[in-house]
Amino acid sequence: MTHTITRWEMRAADEPLAETEVAIENPREGEVLVEVAGCGVCHTDLGFYYDGVRTRHPLPLTLGHEISGRVIATGTGAEQWQDAAVIVPAVMPCGECDVCRRGMGNICARQLMPGNDMHGGFASHIVVPAHGLCRVDEQRLAATGLALADLSVIADAVTTPYQSAAQLDIQAGDLAIVVGVGGVGGYAVQIASAMGAKVVAIDVVQDKLEGLQGYGADLILNSRDISGRDLKKVVKTFAKDNGLRQTEWKIFECSGTAPGQVTAYGLLTFGARLAVVGFTMDKVEVRLSNLMAFHASAVGNWGCLPEYYPSALGLVLDGKVSMKPFIRQYPLSQINAVFTAVHAQEISKRPILVP
Ligand SMILES: [Zn+2]
Ligand SMILES: [Zn+2]
Repeated sequence: MTHTITRWEMRAADEPLAETEVAIENPREGEVLVEVAGCGVCHTDLGFYYDGVRTRHPLPLTLGHEISGRVIATGTGAEQWQDAAVIVPAVMPCGECDVCRRGMGNICARQLMPGNDMHGGFASHIVVPAHGLCRVDEQRLAATGLALADLSVIADAVTTPYQSAAQLDIQAGDLAIVVGVGGVGGYAVQIASAMGAKVVAIDVVQDKLEGLQGYGADLILNSRDISGRDLKKVVKTFAKDNGLRQTEWKIFECSGTAPGQVTAYGLLTFGARLAVVGFTMDKVEVRLSNLMAFHASAVGNWGCLPEYYPSALGLVLDGKVSMKPFIRQYPLSQINAVFTAVHAQEISKRPILVP
């Protein structure tokens, strides 16, 4: 059987994304055809479109890697996914190679990222491998008041900081600091709080900071007003006042900017752990030996292992991580206008494009 599907393709950097219809065959062995419910717009998409970051698959390519939807056709061996509501992981490791078998699918050389290695989610449908899909319990979903489309953003914006939090080993009683509280950082704040940490949120945009009050931020600091040593002093005082340690702070750098990275690095304490979550091409000058002097560590994570998706989804379904105030749906047909507005920073909530 053939399915006719609609995609919005990037053909060249200076051309609007263009709608195309393509006919695709039934999914092959181990694959499923997902009817897209929604696809989140991420800064990585804008990087491909506006900043000349190259996609691994040549153009034309459909962007979009934050996808939720419903399985409407299955290949052999994937029949158990028929009709399932799913989140498609933004990074899908092969699951079979040496690094995958040793639990390091983030660096799998055969991994697939929709909208980078293959056509992505700014489309009516997408064909993906079934292994690694995250099944959504629709009864629990209905109880949250969220739609399946809303969950698209979990693939990346929620799960990437979730794996960062796992790598930082966030525990009850920790002091967590999140630098840059936009789309991804806001969820880092909520996740760290849900895991029992007291959370300091730092940004240069006051509105973003204030939007997180009541959503996990115990202290908000605008690094335009206070920076460097003064910033560290304020956090130390906050720790003291709240009976938290002066050591082993858990720091998330989510701004993906050079100044944000300098701020995050400047907050290292003895035994601190720094997670580099945001991405920038810019370089920073830091004294790397501080890691040695502080017995500290810095770690990164490329996307999130599919194994973490059910726990990250669980935080959302349990109401421990709120999404509604931070997302907004738009029709997929408005993709060009939405890209323009996000690029111009006229949209602060993460847009979800709905076919
Ligand atoms: Zn992304
Ligand atoms: Zn692999």
